[in-house]
Amino acid sequence: MKYFFDPRKVSAAGICCVSHAHSDHMPSSFDGGPLFCSDITLRCLRGRVKSKKSKNYLENVERGDHPSVDASGAGHILGSNMFMIDEGKKVLYTGDFCPQDRLGMEGARPQKCDALIIEATYGNPRYRFPNRNAMMGVIRDWVEDTLNQGCSAVLYSYPLGKSQELTTMLKEFQPRLHGSVLDTTRMMEADDLKFDYLPFDPADDTPQLVISHNTKGENGLSALKKRRTATVSGWCVSGRNWGMDEGFTYSDHADFYEIIDFVKRCSPDQVYIHHGSEEILAKEIRERLGITAVPLKKGQSNLGSYC
Ligand SMILES: [Zn+2]
Repeated sequence: MKYFFDPRKVSAAGICCVSHAHSDHMPSSFDGGPLFCSDITLRCLRGRVKSKKSKNYLENVERGDHPSVDASGAGHILGSNMFMIDEGKKVLYTGDFCPQDRLGMEGARPQKCDALIIEATYGNPRYRFPNRNAMMGVIRDWVEDTLNQGCSAVLYSYPLGKSQELTTMLKEFQPRLHGSVLDTTRMMEADDLKFDYLPFDPADDTPQLVISHNTKGENGLSALKKRRTATVSGWCVSGRNWGMDEGFTYSDHADFYEIIDFVKRCSPDQVYIHHGSEEILAKEIRERLGITAVPLKKGQSNLGSYC
């Protein structure tokens, strides 16, 4: 049996596992076959694909189920999955992952495996994040202070995942969702998943909390004359704030030290690394843990000598 993780093309040539619907992981074409993914990911794929053919496939697709495939939460965004393949040797594919429980979402749990395929977005020792629960408190305090000063608080974040975390984290402030954040949040909702928010109204210029992906202040945001801005991203760890008043380091990815701890607990014989600081993380895993670790090459479609 062939297994494809976050393939660009879904087909019946093997088992196609889609971890989540961020654009660098989601398929762009569909040519039949079942799909292995969560309900939320399927809803997001339906909302994000463009072509009529893809939409038609996703409306009618059969959900995959196979005794050698076990999906579990990756803790990255709602509905994100890791996949364990067990055909005698166990191979765990994490996709993007975060080990910390937060806002009712369980973090990724390490699982013993023979081979681990892991992401390296923050796979460099220079990336150590502050505790996410403490950072939630910092963000809440900033929003409260900003509103108390008679200003609107505008938070910029990625529309799928981080924005829904902020919406849940800050529901006491009745967040207004703007543009693609509003569209994406509505796309994720279902009978068993609802968020507390109001749509952003450009005619309402009272001090308010707005969550947006649009950093230009366009599409009505400029109507908020008195506003303070902040970006919420893991990349703020390196001091960047993209010209905002504040930058809060809050990520839905594992930082370097969480990656190392996760690898150690999975205790694999071999680690394959993709997405980010592959070379650096491979070297650190070899040196710190004594485990064979190699970057996946661009376009690599099998695990070489391993499987
Ligand atoms: Zn992602």
